[in-house]
Amino acid sequence: MASDCLFCKIVARELPAQTVYEDEKTLAFLDINPVNPGHTLVIPKKHSTDIFDIDEKNWTAVMDTSRTVAHALEKALQTDGVNIGMNNRAGAGQVIFHAHVHVMPRFKDDPHSLWKGRPYAEGEFAKMGDKLRAALAVQ
Ligand code: 5GP
Ligand code: ZN
Repeated sequence: MASDCLFCKIVARELPAQTVYEDEKTLAFLDINPVNPGHTLVIPKKHSTDIFDIDEKNWTAVMDTSRTVAHALEKALQTDGVNIGMNNRAGAGQVIFHAHVHVMPRFKDDPHSLWKGRPYAEGEFAKMGDKLRAALAVQ
C-alpha cells in the first residue's frame, strides 16, 4: 500500500466505495463522477501508478475484471455499448496515480463523446509505422 494513495485506502477499506466486484488481485467500484451512471473503475489491489509501472500478472487480472464488468453493465443496464479507457501519467489526464481502467457504459445518443481523430500529413503515415515497428522489433 502506498501512503496517501486514495485507491489504496479504498482497497484497505479505510475509505468508503461502492465496490461491485472483487477477486484476489483486483477491485471494481463505481466512479464518483461518472460519464454515465454505472461507470466503473477497475484497479489492481497491489499499488502501481500506471500502465508503465504495473506488472504483467496484475495487468492481465485488471483486463479480465474489466471484461467481467462490461458484461455486468450490459446485463444490468441494457447498455448499447461500453467504452474502456485508461489515463496514464499527468500528460494524458491522469489525476489519481494508482493504475485504473475506466469501464464506461454507453447509450445511444448519450452526451459522452469519443476523441476525434486527425488524419496524418502527407508521407507521415508510413513513417510512423516504421518508427513503431522499430521500437517494437524483437531483437
Ligand atoms: P483519471 O485519473 O483516470 O483521470 O480519473 C480518476 C477518476 O477517479 C475520475 O473519473 C474520478 O471521478 C474518480 N475518482 C476520484 N476520486 C474518487 C473517489 O474518491 N472515489 C471514487 N469512487 N472515484 C473517484
Ligand atoms: Zn495505490
